[in-house]
This record gives sequence, C-alpha cells and structure tokens, in this order.
Amino acid sequence: MYKDIFIQRQPVIYQVLKHSIASGQLAHAYLFSGMRGSQMKEAAILLAQSLVCPNGDLFACETCDVCRRVAHHQYTDIIYIDGTDRTIKKEEILQLQRKFMQTALERYNKKVYIIEHADRATPEALNSLLKFLEEPSGEDTTAILISENSDRLLPTILSRCQILSFASSTQQSVYHRAIDMGITPYDSHICSSFIKDEYQIAALVDSENYIQVMDSFHQFLTQASNNFYFAALYMQKEGFNSKNSKGKEFIALFCDIAQVFFKDVIAQNMVGDIWWNDFIMSRRFSTVASSAMRVFAEGKDKLVRNPNLSLLMDEMIFELANIETIAKKEGYRG
Ligand SMILES: [Zn+2]
Repeated sequence: MYKDIFIQRQPVIYQVLKHSIASGQLAHAYLFSGMRGSQMKEAAILLAQSLVCPNGDLFACETCDVCRRVAHHQYTDIIYIDGTDRTIKKEEILQLQRKFMQTALERYNKKVYIIEHADRATPEALNSLLKFLEEPSGEDTTAILISENSDRLLPTILSRCQILSFASSTQQSVYHRAIDMGITPYDSHICSSFIKDEYQIAALVDSENYIQVMDSFHQFLTQASNNFYFAALYMQKEGFNSKNSKGKEFIALFCDIAQVFFKDVIAQNMVGDIWWNDFIMSRRFSTVASSAMRVFAEGKDKLVRNPNLSLLMDEMIFELANIETIAKKEGYRG
C-alpha cells in the first residue's frame, strides 16, 4: 500500500496532512513540490481518497470500491488533469467548474482537482481555479497542484497554496549518511536540504562561516519576531561585517538556511531540541512563510548571477520590509 511507503519516505508531509485531516483543517489548495520520482501523484491520490473513503482511519484504506475508483480516475467528483505533454487552458478549468457547481454527484460532498505538472497550465487557468476555491461555492473543493518546477509558478499562485516540499530520495540518504558520520540530526537536516554530499556537510558544519551564519540567523529570527525590516538591516550589517570579504558567502548561506527554516514553518516540522523550534510554531512566521521563502530563494538566485552585493542587500531589505507589512496586516486581522 502506498500509505506505508508515504509514511516512510515523506514523514514530514505525512505528519502535516495527518494533522490537517484530523483537525478538519485542510487547505483549499496544496502545491506538492518536489523532484521527479518523489511520488507526488501517488500522495495526491492518497489525499483525495482520504477525503472520501468510507473505511479510512484518517488516511484512506486504499482497497475499498471508492478508493479504487479514485485511483483509476473513475470517481466523478475527483478530477485529475495531466499537463505532462500539453498546456492546460483557462477554458478547460472553467468548464470543470461549471460541472462542479452542480451538486456533488457522489455520496460525499467533497470535490478534488489534481493538476499534475501545474507549471504547464497557463497562469490564467490556475488563477481562475484558485479564485474559484476562495468563493463559498468552492468550499468543499480541494485543489492539489503537483509540480517538479514550482519556481515557474507565479507568486500569486504560490501565495494561495500551502506548499509541501517532497524530500527527494537523495536528500534522505544524504541526511542519514550525515547522521552516521556523527553530525547532529539538526545540522544534518538543515544542510542536506541544500548540500548533496555528507562530506561537504561535515566540512561546512565545522566551518567558521556556518557557525557565524547560524548565530546571525538566530539573531535575525529574534528580531524578525518583532520586525522584519530591522531584522533585514541586522542581516545586512552582519553580512558586511563578516571577516575577510566573505560577505557573499555569508549571505548565500544565510539565504539557504532561511529557506530551510521557512519550509519547516510551512510544514510545522520540528527538528531536535534547539532554538530553531521555538520559532517554528510562531503564527507570525507562518503567515508570511511562503513569501519569506521566496525572498530568500530569489536572493540566493540573484547572488549567484550578480556580483553587486550592496545592491542585492538593498533589494532584500525592501522585500523584507514588504513582508513586515503583510505580517502586520495579518496580525490585525487575526
Ligand atoms: Zn477506501
């Protein structure tokens, strides 16, 4: 059964979904993001089955008639759209929505869209889908977008989805080999997210740069708990302060670590027993996690291509100030 493989290979995502199903707090839209071979489609089917299976204990039984029909795309209220070798156009989505607006055809009043290779749908198609989900008529509808290239999706799409990053098998084996070498689970977790070699991880965690960046990132989060803008200024100061013109290396690693952190916030993933966890459950961070992740992903990206560190820092400070605005707005609302 896929469920057993899922628990083993994607423990973090399993926990996130299990918690959401148990508390009845599923997102309107999920983005399953990961490398080819990370079995995201299987996970999407399992989630869809779990919403309608009459026998499931949180997750679906995978064997009953309903589950089998979902798996074979024969369940009327669960629509699977495959963008493997074509573009998904807006008209197709609108047509489906018209069909979905009618009363559910199956016994359970749940409807699911699964869109594989969502990055190959037009932005208009995805936008009209996600807009529809925000309307009351879309209440019992869940969308699961699957993408191996989620960086090609527009920010407006990403911000509407709960992003679940599937671990690749390489990452997991690097993680376990790093632990076998005596690196702490926490350092192994962070570094295996962006380094694919346990020896390089061992060298990094021993380096002055890593220790310095981790310490600065801790300070950054402490400041960001109050204000992202001041946290950004702090990050800039530390980056330029770092010894012997290592500014770029410092900021690059800072961006890598920040991305892991905000991914953990989205997945509510706790690691080890350290300060990192104190910030994971913060409501303030969870409201801005996907935007923050994007700032650091773009920052790292630009850093690789563009040598002008001070210009880049100014841009990042601007972006992080915007995040402060989002956080404040959400704070007032909630
Ligand atoms: Zn079932």
